[in-house]
Parts: sequence; C-alpha cells; structure tokens
Amino acid sequence: MRELRVELEERSYPIYIGEGLLNETGAMFEKHGITAKSPVLIISDENTAGLYLRRVEDALKQKGYRTASYSVPAGEQSKTLALLQDAVTVALEAGLDRSSTVIALGGGVVGDLAGFVAATYMRGIRFVQIPTTILAHDSSVGGKVAVNHPLAKNIIGAFHQPDFVLYDIDTLKTLPIREVRAGLSEVIKHGLIWNEDFAYWCEANASKLLALDSEALIYALYEGCKVKSIVVSQDERENDLRAILNLGHTIGHALEAVAGYGELLHGEAIAIGMIGAARISVKMGQPQDVLTVTERIFNAFGLRTAIPAHLDTDSIMSAMMHDKKFKEGTMVFILPKAIGKVEIHKDVPISLVKETVDFLKQ
Ligand code: NAD
Ligand code: MG
Repeated sequence: MRELRVELEERSYPIYIGEGLLNETGAMFEKHGITAKSPVLIISDENTAGLYLRRVEDALKQKGYRTASYSVPAGEQSKTLALLQDAVTVALEAGLDRSSTVIALGGGVVGDLAGFVAATYMRGIRFVQIPTTILAHDSSVGGKVAVNHPLAKNIIGAFHQPDFVLYDIDTLKTLPIREVRAGLSEVIKHGLIWNEDFAYWCEANASKLLALDSEALIYALYEGCKVKSIVVSQDERENDLRAILNLGHTIGHALEAVAGYGELLHGEAIAIGMIGAARISVKMGQPQDVLTVTERIFNAFGLRTAIPAHLDTDSIMSAMMHDKKFKEGTMVFILPKAIGKVEIHKDVPISLVKETVDFLKQ
C-alpha cells in the first residue's frame, strides 16, 4: 500500500492506494478516529453496489459500525438535487447525526453526489471516498463536490475535503476496458501538465496499465494524484494555477456536448482535446515534438486522437464559446510548452482553433 498526503492545512488528508483495501474499511475508520456510535451512510451506484457494497458493509460491521446504504442508477444523470434529497431521506431515517460519515463507493458520479450530500447534510459531516474507477483518481483530490442542474453541469456544489481516500485497485478489475482507457487519459494529463518523466513512463508502461498490472497501476495512480494534489495545494479554490488541470478540456467539453454525453467518454474527449491543444501550441511557435510525443502517448493507449468526422465544426466552436470566456477574436487555452509543462494563453485566435478542429476531423 502507498500513502499520499494531500496538503491543505487543517483540511489535509491521506490517500491510501493498494490491493485488498476494501476489507480494511472498518480498520481505517478506527485509525481515523471515527466514532462507532454514529451510523455511516454508504452511497453507491447500481454497479458498484452489486459488486462491492457487501464487502464494505461487512468490513465496517466487523469493527462495530452501523451502516445504511443508498444506491443510484449508474451514470451522469444521477448527479441531481432530486437524488440528493432521496439520499438525505435515507440519512435521516437511519439516524445520521453530526458525527456520522458518508462514504462514496463508486466512480466520479457517486463521489460528486455523495460528497455533496456530506457537504450539506447538517451543514457538513465527514466524508470518505472509496473510488472504484481510474477516472476517480482525479475526483478524489481537490474536494470539489457537486450535482448538475438541467442547464449546467456541476453548477450546484461545494468544496468539501474527505477525511481519507481508500483506493482499492482490485476494484478496477471489473471496469469495462473502455472506462479503463478513458480514465488513464486523465492520468496521462497529469504527466503532461507537470511531470515529464511520468508522462514518458506512462507511454513506456501503456500495456501494463491497460492490463491493470498492480505495481504499475499503484504507481500511476499515486503519481497522478500527486500532481493534482500539488496543484490543488497551491490553489485550493481555483484562483489561477488550478486552471492548468483543464488541459484538453476546452475542446474536450465541446466534443462531449456536441456528441451528446455518452458517445464520447470524458477521458476520450479530453485526449482529443489534448492533441488539439498540442497542435495549437505548435502552430503558435512551440517545437513540433510537443505534438508528436503527445500523439505517440495517446496512441500507445489506443485512445483516439481524431474528432469523429460527423461532428459539425460550427457546433463544436459554438459549444466552446458558450463554455468559456473569450475576448473578441481570441480564446483562453491551456497549451503545452513542452512535455510536462503548460502555460495559460489568453490570446489564442479563434480562427486557429477552428482550423485545428477541422484538421482533427480528417
Ligand atoms: P462513473 O462514476 O459514472 O463511472 C463510470 C461507469 O463505471 C459507471 O457505469 C459505473 O457504474 C461503472 N463503475 C464504476 N466502478 C466500477 C467498477 N469497479 N467495476 C465496474 N463498473 C464500475 O464515471 P467516472 O468516469 O468515474 O466519473 C465521471 C464523473 O466524475 C463526472 O460526473 C465528473 O463530473 C466527475 N469528476 C469530478 C471531479 C472532481 O474534482 N470532483 C473530477 C473529475 C471528474
Ligand atoms: Mg476532467
């Protein structure tokens, strides 16, 4: 097991990454001084409930904790105020009090919903994350929790840091391979924005990671969480630096919106977005290597690097303008300067972005 500390002054917390950790849930609760007098609410989705809920409940019961559980349908459509209210109903019926804990057992969807339940129930109670997707390495650091509004994603939310994160990599073995690949795209992003050696390590270890080799996976999740935690520690509330975590997301979000959520997974969309950012960067004067190496890395993971040809360029452009602030004729973009280094550019010509989108459709 490896342990990483996310440094946020009095809100600092550890992330434990290793094998067989679900069975240690109760022991970890004790280690973190969580009282067994107050009930624990475990929030999961239909997939993670079927696969892992029993194990977590048993591990807690063995140490004398009482549990209640609430499970939502799988997918983004579960991040709603309506389901938050349902979860609170379960919490009230189970007698959760101010010393209670909410556990998120699942991917980023469950993490965001359960985190927001924990942030708002009685104005905030303890929160423990048990991430079960690779993508959730990203949501396990930083404390952003939220639900969606019909008009905007993640618009109703809070900052609420967990007490600890228990990342049992054994759970990743049941993930569909497409989810594995898409989750790794955010891991690679953390290399591309901050750590050149790690980015190259990802390329060299692509097949091990895709095969979920334990040692490689623990290392990759550790390094990915580490980059995010360094960035978040320096800028918890997204004033400036935290924006670099959005590499690939300007184009990526637009692709997700135009394709309709579901056709492209988030990680797939931002992989294409990172290729787009690298191409724009080269056109604005950075060395060609920035693009060729980025393409090589995503190819090694079998992540697509082209925009699906049927997506309309104008729709992609207007989704991007709608999504982001922009001045007359220019847009703000996070651009790679080198592998492992990015810069925030406020003056990327819209015409260059459009040209890039068109090019990537070939
Ligand atoms: P997800 O939670 O929907 O999980 C993807 C799919 O995998 C779901 O169908 C889920 O049921 C299934 N699944 C989860 N674990 C499984 C397992 N171990 N075995 C088999 N199936 C499993 O999606 P995600 O990609 O993990 O997360 C996406 C969400 O995360 C988005 O809502 C996004 O906004 C959010 N997010 C939040 C942050 C943050 O900082 N808070 C950061 C990144 C993403
Ligand atoms: Mg993302």
